[in-house]
Amino acid sequence: MNKAESAHIASYLEAEGYTATNDPHDADIIVLNTCVVRQSAEDKIIGHLGYLKGIKKEYPDKKIILTGCFVQDSKDSIQEQFPHIDLAFPPGAFQIMEDWTGNVCSTGIRKERDLLPAEYESPCAYLPIIQGCNNFCSYCIVPYRRGRERSRLEDDIVQEAEKLVDKGIKEITLLGQNVNSYGKDLSLENGLRDLLARLNSIPGLMRIRFLTNHPRDMNEPLIKAIASLEKVCEHINVPFQSGDNEILAKMHRHYSREHYIALIKTIRAYIPDIALSTDVIVGFPGETEEQFQQSVDMLRTIRFDNSHIAAYSVREGTIAARELEDNVPYDTKKERLALMESLQENISKEINERFLGQEVEILVEGKKKNKWFGRTRGDKLVFFESPDHYLGRLVHVKINKTSPWSLQGVLAAT
Ligand code: SF4
Repeated sequence: MNKAESAHIASYLEAEGYTATNDPHDADIIVLNTCVVRQSAEDKIIGHLGYLKGIKKEYPDKKIILTGCFVQDSKDSIQEQFPHIDLAFPPGAFQIMEDWTGNVCSTGIRKERDLLPAEYESPCAYLPIIQGCNNFCSYCIVPYRRGRERSRLEDDIVQEAEKLVDKGIKEITLLGQNVNSYGKDLSLENGLRDLLARLNSIPGLMRIRFLTNHPRDMNEPLIKAIASLEKVCEHINVPFQSGDNEILAKMHRHYSREHYIALIKTIRAYIPDIALSTDVIVGFPGETEEQFQQSVDMLRTIRFDNSHIAAYSVREGTIAARELEDNVPYDTKKERLALMESLQENISKEINERFLGQEVEILVEGKKKNKWFGRTRGDKLVFFESPDHYLGRLVHVKINKTSPWSLQGVLAAT
């Protein structure tokens, strides 16, 4: 979400006549887009704001903008605390920035607002469709910082998608903290399903993805839609967080281990070649060895293509921080994390080895160290070498090398 919002801000400023620089000393406007999902991220922001204070002192004409989840509604208090900030606006409240830049920073080169992402060279773009979350998982700060769920209107999203496709975008990833809850606040019964169907009919758009899902909001009509809409990729991220029912209840996740396993079974019944990824937290307050083993068992039996595993850390302001004691020792958390990561690495290695000798289709996204790269519909990262230009093209690659993280191969004859 932050990446998408940074791209939007960059795109807006470019349309205003600015060009991007990586050096804050060269910048007329410095934008700090923040993430506070962990306490350590918030601490980094404070450090960075100190650094920017020095820059502002040296160059008082530079404008500094602060946005992202660090900025809550109380933006005035932020500017009181950090007077070198010229503008602070909550995540996604772009109108505040646009009004401000229009008045304060007008360059006189105002162009028609253009939503093309700053990284427009890539054929892939993010498209936020819902902001906020209503779930209040006990460990998570998101609902407090990004607020309750607010879906964008379907027509606006479709229009923006068409505009992106006109600019050369071929793959769109729909974004939301809880993307499969899209439309509930607009009283739409099957919001995401219907939106996917509309986007699927946009000529020129090749692939659609969406991130990330809550198991409770993943229903059969949506799964059927993913199975039947040819542009929707066979890749779903569904965080399970813990394999133990008692821990799931403490996390306020509102589903059981059994519900999750049945859900995966349904997904696989409709889409047998689905690639699955997940998120897991180890060392949650009170997690016993037996409860941890339940999470290990989930990873082992479901065999996800990819997992993002995190050791629990207290996030001030959350229910867990208020009500639960962070009582799993640090070393135990680290051991559990290492065990899960090594298990996932082995599973990913075995899954990826199945691609050896096979031909896969990828959409070429860019070049790194002289190698073109792109992803399969199942989100496998694939590299190949060629002196020719392939950016934005669908190509077939014959895989001759695999690792837990990526595949390599040679261009297949087309
Ligand atoms: Fe946070 Fe996701 Fe839970 Fe919402 S569903 S509270 S974003 S972890």
